[in-house]
Amino acid sequence: MSSPGDIPTLPEHLYVHVPLCRTKCAYCDFFSLSRSDLPLSVDALTSALVNQACAWGERGLSMRPLQTLYVGGGTPSMLGAALAGLVDAIGTHIGFATGAEITVEANPDSIDDQLVSLLAEAGVTRVSLGVQSFHDDVLHTLGRAHDATRAIAAARSVRAWNLDLSVDLMCGIPGQSMGSWLASVEYAIATGAGHVSVYPLSLESGTPLAAEMLLGRFAEPDPDVAADMMIAANEVLAREGFERYEVANYAKPGAQSRHNTAYWTGHEYLGVGPGAHGMLTTATARAAGFIVPEDAARVRYAIACDLQTGLQPAPRADIETLTAGEAAREDVMLGLRLTTGVDVALVERAGVAGLLGRLAGTGLVERSDDRWRLTEGGWLLGNEVFGDVWAGE
Ligand code: SF4
Repeated sequence: MSSPGDIPTLPEHLYVHVPLCRTKCAYCDFFSLSRSDLPLSVDALTSALVNQACAWGERGLSMRPLQTLYVGGGTPSMLGAALAGLVDAIGTHIGFATGAEITVEANPDSIDDQLVSLLAEAGVTRVSLGVQSFHDDVLHTLGRAHDATRAIAAARSVRAWNLDLSVDLMCGIPGQSMGSWLASVEYAIATGAGHVSVYPLSLESGTPLAAEMLLGRFAEPDPDVAADMMIAANEVLAREGFERYEVANYAKPGAQSRHNTAYWTGHEYLGVGPGAHGMLTTATARAAGFIVPEDAARVRYAIACDLQTGLQPAPRADIETLTAGEAAREDVMLGLRLTTGVDVALVERAGVAGLLGRLAGTGLVERSDDRWRLTEGGWLLGNEVFGDVWAGE
């Protein structure tokens, strides 16, 4: 918190986007490039990302050590040893608070024991591994670049270096049986992961998987089947001591993602790299040189997604401003993602108490202990609830 006259401080949470993937997965519509399409070398990309992060300190913001760093993508592990260099450089130039959470995303096809050792030496504390399934036929349908054996080896390497491990899994995939899905959940638990994320497949138009479905090669995902799989995963994970703390995220006690929790609880964060997003208070945004309307209460920005110009130290950022009412509704929407829910006072401030009362009548939310939360039914239909809250009364 800054007082009048203070220099606004740099947010304590930094996201770095690495737009690099070995191949394009059949379901993915994120922006990423293969090594051969990248218009600069891996080392040049890495130093440009570090420069972009450090440049915030030259925008009139006072730097402070980071509580969390999250290097996501794309596939950060495709940077190889340069990924450890990136983390090290951010630690040197910006600094990490004691006990900081430093996460890198990795795919099993581009992480091995040697890379994990370098990451551990650079101070990485947590690896988020994009496994999706431990079954080769399902991985083949998804067009993933790894097989189950590689996924198990990657998870073992992470745990062998005593880093915290998060495993991403996906359900509702064509040809995936309930037995295959639950076996993948069991495999994820057996790796020693303290954190598991489970998502239903989302069919994005224009992707190869969507085209295959249009051609009738696969049946369209059945949302009821995916919902049953999410419920079944919830039971298995709960039995093994994992708590659901967010719509799609489960953790052993103390293993929640602090970085993602900062997003869901309205903390400022910086995003660097092409296409990355950030969220700032108006004071921070103005100090950083953004033109912010008088009635704005919050600023969200996206780095213009152009690798040639977007990796300048001060790239073009597309900004969106939120009024106080919109920011409060956003806080309610994000807070409802969490099992801790949102305080009734915030709901009142956001002007959506009546709406939540009506949603309670349909069984999607409930109020207890002066907090609003999603019910079990609302958890499966979260996007409908979030859309209603954002739209307002
Ligand atoms: S690895 Fe991730 S970002 Fe890359 S293509 Fe696959 S799903 Fe998309």
